[in-house]
Amino acid sequence: MYSTENDYIILEDKTATGKKRDWKGKKRRANLMAEHYEALQSKTGVPYYGKKAEKLCSCAECLSFKRDPETGKLKLYQAQFCKVRLCPMCAWRRSLKIAYHNKLIVEEANRQYGCRWIFLTLTVRNVDGDGLKPMIADMMKGWNRLFGYKRVKEATLGYFRALEITKNNEENTYHPHFHVLLPVKRNYFGKNYIKQTEWTSLWKRAMKLDYTPIVDIRRVKGKAKVDAEQIEDEVREAMMEQKAVLEISKYPVKDTDVVRGNKVTEDNLNTVLYLDDALAARRLIGYGGILKEIHKELNLGDAEDGDLVKIEEEDDEVANGAFEVMAYWHPGIKNYIIK
Ligand SMILES: [Zn+2]
Repeated sequence: MYSTENDYIILEDKTATGKKRDWKGKKRRANLMAEHYEALQSKTGVPYYGKKAEKLCSCAECLSFKRDPETGKLKLYQAQFCKVRLCPMCAWRRSLKIAYHNKLIVEEANRQYGCRWIFLTLTVRNVDGDGLKPMIADMMKGWNRLFGYKRVKEATLGYFRALEITKNNEENTYHPHFHVLLPVKRNYFGKNYIKQTEWTSLWKRAMKLDYTPIVDIRRVKGKAKVDAEQIEDEVREAMMEQKAVLEISKYPVKDTDVVRGNKVTEDNLNTVLYLDDALAARRLIGYGGILKEIHKELNLGDAEDGDLVKIEEEDDEVANGAFEVMAYWHPGIKNYIIK
């Protein structure tokens, strides 16, 4: 039995800056992903897909929030997330968590090491669906080789690495690539400097490629200028740095890239099939060097497979005296309602 229109309140959850949190949109996309897994189950007869569909369907069905009596803001404190790699709801939660972790890690690295930051994008040629899984395996090996090179080890202090896969729908190919955030010593731009052409040949060697891959390197703007507008510059640069860090913290696969449109299609089924297989049991993000140490020091949990309820560690004190708000997914009206 569904409530009549007057008996329910639609969930509204806003961020500190007043932006609506799109719970409804993510849940609808998760349900659409579930439909794809269901279709794969009927098509292949493999129960594995049916199980994933069930998990996706029950992802975040009920959300428990605490409402801060002072600000009126909601804070999620209980929910069940399915943790299926391709779940749009879970990917969103992961992105938030990764971004938050990276913000803390970058701040701490700046404090401890006063490091500089560079972004590196390592790519390979596009591959077809069958080539995706072996290519990702090769890239992980290539990555280890690259960061085992003395030249790279001496020039960098660590890394944050995220594997992203985009799809070229015209050619029906996949483009796996690494987004990398590298802390480097202050004097990196002197003798340790590795220019773009050298990064390219190092990556080519590490990947054992017979072609020259596209490698992009850019510096995250430092705080070089000292003048009357110094403070403003610092604020702006800190913001740019942060924006850049947030940009790289997105969880690797855009769900609108996986499932296009709002219906189950043959093309979408193929994409889900290949990506599901390629990403199964793979860690898509990784930390190394000082970033790994700081991640450990700050006692940050696993953003990929860990708890997806609590994003920010510090402000869970809200709980005391807060009102509980329960929101349930209503399959009929396709939205979260508060009873
Ligand atoms: Zn989920």
